[in-house]
Amino acid sequence: MRSKIVAGNWKMNKNLQETIHLVEDIASKLGETHAEVMVAPTFVNLSAAVSALESSMIEVVAQNMHFAANGAYTGEISAGMLKAIGIKTVIIGHSERRAYFGETDELLSKKVKAALESDLRVVFCFGEELADRQSGNHFNVVAGQLKNALFTLTAADWKNIVLAYEPVWAIGTGETASPEQAQEMHAFIRHTVVEGFNQEVADAVTILYGGSVKPGNAAEIFAKPDVDGGLIGGASLKTDDFLAIINAI
Ligand code: PEP
Repeated sequence: MRSKIVAGNWKMNKNLQETIHLVEDIASKLGETHAEVMVAPTFVNLSAAVSALESSMIEVVAQNMHFAANGAYTGEISAGMLKAIGIKTVIIGHSERRAYFGETDELLSKKVKAALESDLRVVFCFGEELADRQSGNHFNVVAGQLKNALFTLTAADWKNIVLAYEPVWAIGTGETASPEQAQEMHAFIRHTVVEGFNQEVADAVTILYGGSVKPGNAAEIFAKPDVDGGLIGGASLKTDDFLAIINAI
């Protein structure tokens, strides 16, 4: 059976003290769940979050990494550096990285390979912009993003890939894809993975939905057969909302 995952992407929010407070608050109130729960604080707070969550089942994950192992890349962080502080999973390809930091499919492909070579699990984000959906080109765009960044991997590599479909028009906008739109795209994504690899790989890959998931809409979206959980932005910064979303799985 595919893993169910709820991951909170905290982006550039919460300082050190706020991060420790939030992770401790979430951990102390989290009840039993069959979902894997992840939080992604900003780089400088990863170590503190790892320590604070030592005896919790909540995993601390990184929001980004560089593809090189080390070298003259001022301001960047490598997979090895993440691993050295206990990080096992990294988010790659978030639409904000693509839009504000010029990350292309080609660059993302290098990052994914570097992460996998370092035995990091990858949460790979992708999704169409509003104009793509309005012009009916959304399936082509999504298939292209997948193929360009992930289709030179081996079938074995896919054991460490989690997909996060995040339509850009739904991120931080309050606009959510309907459960039907999410299911339609997730089924298409799974089918695209069958074509590129095989049914076994496609059946095993966890596909998260992201884009304005809130306590009020999570259950309906998560109930769809090809939606295996969520990547949550804004709502993951509030304990009660994040826990309600986790409990909706
Ligand atoms: C995200 O940033 O990945 C995201 C889904 O944000 P939000 O939930 O705030 O739309």
